[in-house]
Amino acid sequence: MVKKFKVNKDKCIGCGACISACLNGMEWDDDGKAKVKNLEQVEECGGETLCPYSAIEEQE
Ligand code: SF4
Repeated sequence: MVKKFKVNKDKCIGCGACISACLNGMEWDDDGKAKVKNLEQVEECGGETLCPYSAIEEQE
C-alpha cells in the first residue's frame, strides 16, 4: 500500500530542498511551492523527512 504524501501549502516556503533531493518524486507547483509528482518515489526518498519545515505530510 503506497503512502499518501501531500505538501501542506501553509507550511511550505518554497525552498526547493525536497525537489533537489527527490527529483523523481517532487516538482514545482504553479504557486512557487512544491507538490508531489510521484508518491512511490517520495516514499523511497524518505517521505516527510524530505522537508526541513515539516510541510510534507502523510495523509491518513
Ligand atoms: S522542502 Fe518543504 S518547504 Fe521546501 S519546497 Fe519542499 S515542501 Fe516546501
